[in-house]
Amino acid sequence: MTAGAKGKVYLVGAGPGDPELLTLKALRLLAAAEAVLHDDLVAPEILRLIPSTAQVHNVGKRCGKKKILQSEINHLMVALASSGLKVVRLKGGDPLVFGRAGEEIEVLRAAGISYEIIPGVTSAFGAAAALQIPLTHRRVSSALVLVTAHAASEKDVNDWGKYIQSGATLALYMPGKNYSDVAGKLKSAGVEGDTPCAIVSHATTRQQQVHLTTIGSLHRAPLLVAPTLLIVGDVVRFADVAAAVEASGIPALSAQTVHSVPATYIQDSLPAGSPKLAEPPHNEESLA
Ligand code: SAH
Repeated sequence: MTAGAKGKVYLVGAGPGDPELLTLKALRLLAAAEAVLHDDLVAPEILRLIPSTAQVHNVGKRCGKKKILQSEINHLMVALASSGLKVVRLKGGDPLVFGRAGEEIEVLRAAGISYEIIPGVTSAFGAAAALQIPLTHRRVSSALVLVTAHAASEKDVNDWGKYIQSGATLALYMPGKNYSDVAGKLKSAGVEGDTPCAIVSHATTRQQQVHLTTIGSLHRAPLLVAPTLLIVGDVVRFADVAAAVEASGIPALSAQTVHSVPATYIQDSLPAGSPKLAEPPHNEESLA
């Protein structure tokens, strides 16, 4: 890292949504930020922690109608830091997991701008914790692989099959809206139809929704609201949906606490041999 102008960039992980999953360091840096560049995925409860004196830029790729190019984000980040500001580049989850941090680091290095990386809880960890799925298990899975379905090549998809067959748990980011397509790809890569999987939407937030199914039935799953994540592997049998429903009332760190709304509970059939899942609370509104 080079010490350049007096400004500095902090690449900060905001975690999956629940503000209590921010690190103490992230919280401290946010409170001291003079400029914040954040992605769409950062929860509003976390954005409320930014001081009103800071300039805030939503550089989410879906922001407004115009698509913001990565080069524009890079340019803005460098310009703000060069003008001497303490810049927080706030990203959902962990900045180093499917977060384009690599490209931003290159640009900061080239511009001689001092920077630091603050890890965050990646969404796969948030989703697994919400459903109480052990991502590794002494008797079931000894590896965890993070993959993205976005722009996955045929070779990538074949590798997914190999990971699952070797007993690894797969955390599939950006599964998209076409579950039939993902299921078809997994099956063509040799994943058995009875392999359990969980779709988790808005993990760790009040909008959290979960759906348990198998790769064979994934095409019938209801479309959950993005962002979603797909966890695939035998460890999904340990999921506790009732816990996911209960965990959804996220505490707020700011004064603007809103009433917690129960998470939506959706459950499909799980393969034989799955542990019996606890019944969800009786609440018509929580059933989609
Ligand atoms: N850096 C992020 C990932 C960014 S890629 C991280 O570490 O989590 C964006 C993808 O992350 C989304 O398409 C989705 O697959 C996943 N994601 C992010 N937040 C999520 C959440 N709260 N619940 C479920 N999936 C989430």
